[in-house]
Amino acid sequence: MGKVIAITNQKGGVGKTTTAVNLAASVAVAERKVLLVDFDPQSNSTSGVGVDKEVVENNIYRVLAGDVDIEHAIYDTSLDFLKIIPSSRELAGAEIELVSQIGREFFLKNALSKIKDEFDYVFIDCPPSLGLLTVNALCAADSVIIPIQCEYFALEGVSDLMRTIDLIKSSVNPSLEIEGVLLTMFDDRTNLSKQVVEEIKSFFKEKVFETIIPRNVRLGEAPSFGLPVLLYEVKSKGAQSYLKLAKELLEYEKKSVR
Ligand code: ADP
Ligand code: MG
Repeated sequence: MGKVIAITNQKGGVGKTTTAVNLAASVAVAERKVLLVDFDPQSNSTSGVGVDKEVVENNIYRVLAGDVDIEHAIYDTSLDFLKIIPSSRELAGAEIELVSQIGREFFLKNALSKIKDEFDYVFIDCPPSLGLLTVNALCAADSVIIPIQCEYFALEGVSDLMRTIDLIKSSVNPSLEIEGVLLTMFDDRTNLSKQVVEEIKSFFKEKVFETIIPRNVRLGEAPSFGLPVLLYEVKSKGAQSYLKLAKELLEYEKKSVR
């Protein structure tokens, strides 16, 4: 039974895509079967694992539009255990095209239901909005990871996100859980970063992942080579922190099975 985890925060630039790519890769090297679904029209997860959206024939937009079966939109990456469903610019249009359709919240869930059990984990990289795409991701998900940047206004917009999650829980997806809040781009040289960590921990308590992702240039460089950071420079702090996060996630899993 595959577990579906949406990586979401309607703010842009907080580390959703970086987390989606690198957590997915880190879980994959632990030999769990992982599917990364790029659900952002900007397609940065797609290019981040070395897939050229202009070259692949199929993508998540074509799946939602009913043009292609989801099985045919799954592509290989440089890691054996990591597959991807690419995105494309047209996905932005789906937000509008789906609005008038019956069951508009469930398109992604229905599509994923056909294949999710072939994987141990499915990670969905969400777009920076709380629109219908994100709602589809939250309906399809078992849990959410919320990346929060250690910066000014870190908590800005978080209450809107929490309200959306509560709304989804009280209507279409009662079992949706918060997997964890992930602090990203931490800079240990600044007091601000430390203050933000304290602020987030007092707000989210035990929901905050122990692993904190540091600001690390390798994390910024790796996507331009189409590689998860662990294939680019495994010794970097960035690679090591996402490997640690994967371990933490898999550890939770063991506990909840018991
Ligand atoms: P989002 O998907 O939330 O918009 P991204 O993951 O694309 O955010 O990150 C925004 C930018 O910050 C990207 O250029 C990315 O490479 C960079 N970035 C993300 N996390 C880190 C980090 N921990 N250290 C350094 N750069 C980072
Ligand atoms: Mg992104």
